[in-house]
Amino acid sequence: MTTALITHTDCLQHVTPSGHPERVDRLMAIYAALDALGDDGLIRVDAPMGTDADILRVHPQAHIDAITAAAPDSGSRALDADTHMSAGSLTAAYRGVGAMTKAVDMVLGGEVQNAFAAMRPPGHHAEKQTPMGFCLFGNIAIAAKHALDVHGLSRVAVVDFDVHHGNGTQDLLWDEDRALFISSHQMPLYPGSGAAHETGASGNILNVPLAAHSGGAELRDVYERVILPALNDYKPELVLISAGFDAHRNDPLANLNWDEADFVWATQALCDVADTHAQGRVVSTLEGGYDLDALAASTRAHLEVLIKRGTHG
Ligand SMILES: [Zn+2]
Repeated sequence: MTTALITHTDCLQHVTPSGHPERVDRLMAIYAALDALGDDGLIRVDAPMGTDADILRVHPQAHIDAITAAAPDSGSRALDADTHMSAGSLTAAYRGVGAMTKAVDMVLGGEVQNAFAAMRPPGHHAEKQTPMGFCLFGNIAIAAKHALDVHGLSRVAVVDFDVHHGNGTQDLLWDEDRALFISSHQMPLYPGSGAAHETGASGNILNVPLAAHSGGAELRDVYERVILPALNDYKPELVLISAGFDAHRNDPLANLNWDEADFVWATQALCDVADTHAQGRVVSTLEGGYDLDALAASTRAHLEVLIKRGTHG
């Protein structure tokens, strides 16, 4: 078995204003780091375009219409203070959706053991009718719904270790009793949600706030005490990961002190859960990460774990 690396150069055509942290250079840095990996155990896949049917599993038609209408013919348009669209953004966003459904299809179809989607814009802040936090469509929630509705799974776990709360994923999966959403995140921090008392319509959401300046020891502690037991109780049939790398100590947007070894540890722990309950099936997608060197190194380290698991089971 192997690992699918899914991306598309259309994601380089989502151009944000000068000085914006979520920039084309992020994906260029990741491409350079992942090119150095070679092709052993890796299948490189062009992300297809997602469909409106994929998006409509989590967003209303009005959201698709609003995003489509907001896309400029040239230049940049601000949807809010953080979230912008250029002429290439709509296509990039649809590629992000397609990457996730393709990843789920490949993993559940047994073509590959696991998959990583290196896409931008990210997705975990996009709420039902509100693009925000650099995000347009809720890619990881779309992946969860695809696995549930199209492939007929009955228990999917979504784990978000981006330093920011996955408010969008929480919003999109709030009423979904076939999914467990777990987010660890620095708090207080943007977007302000993600308190422990936010537990979803059926106890299907678990928020694990982390204090500013905490590091790898605290990460391991909350995983071992809270997150891994919850996952093992739940017994997911598929593990989805919102892989943001902005909890890195060098990240300019937040104040956690994780490093590459911490991302490796968390990835291994989540792969262990998948091995125990989900036939090793993991689909991961890029969210944040804004220090280019830390982002590239952390993404590479994350993918190396997936490749090792895909190759050696
Ligand atoms: Zn983030």
